[in-house]
Amino acid sequence: MRLDRFLSNQPSLNRQDARLLIAAGRVRVDGRIVRDGVFEVREFSRIELDGELLQAGKPARYFMLHKPAGVVSATCHDQHPTALDLLDEPDRHELHLAGRLDLTTTGLLLITNDGLWSRRITQPGLKQPKVYYVETAEPIGEEYIETFARGIYFAYEELTTLPAHLQIIGSHSARLTLHEGRYHQVKRMFGHFRNRVLRLHRESVGPLHLEHELAPGQYRPLTPAEINLTE
Ligand code: URA
Repeated sequence: MRLDRFLSNQPSLNRQDARLLIAAGRVRVDGRIVRDGVFEVREFSRIELDGELLQAGKPARYFMLHKPAGVVSATCHDQHPTALDLLDEPDRHELHLAGRLDLTTTGLLLITNDGLWSRRITQPGLKQPKVYYVETAEPIGEEYIETFARGIYFAYEELTTLPAHLQIIGSHSARLTLHEGRYHQVKRMFGHFRNRVLRLHRESVGPLHLEHELAPGQYRPLTPAEINLTE
């Protein structure tokens, strides 16, 4: 919301008051004087007028979780534990997942209460690359590389997948980089070759890499540098 709008929503202020107070340098956001009424403030912003607190601003929270198999990427579920159940944090219900992994998939899951940040991570248009380690039932052929790079037609959605990069590691293992997140995408891409995915593990999302020290089920807050890396 714009700062002028936020101020004029205060019971004692109208739009004209808001404009004048901002222009006079009497309004601070996160400790800094802001003289621009269109400045965007959020629920995380601390907003003061003449030193008097109008909004304390709640902390924005960001975590990386090593999702184990058997945990659902949802905020509530009646059969399986959810990713949020693994977090020992206050006000857990205010958090949401920035992206999803299948029940059996392991690896990096990002969790936050910042909707703008999670949209930046998950929006297909912004193409944050996601890197998966894959193990398959059948050998992985060299021809997969070009097919994945060209894209595979998904009849159900009537679309062709974006170019994906496949690096073959062993006869039955590979690393796949995707720039989108279609339903069961990795499994369906290997399914194109009738090759079943036996193990799927997400190593990174954009510039964020799953910390090696985190055992399955463990999590940690993101560092300020990691939070800002996605901007
Ligand atoms: N592709 C899949 O098939 N499953 C996942 O969990 C993620 C990507």
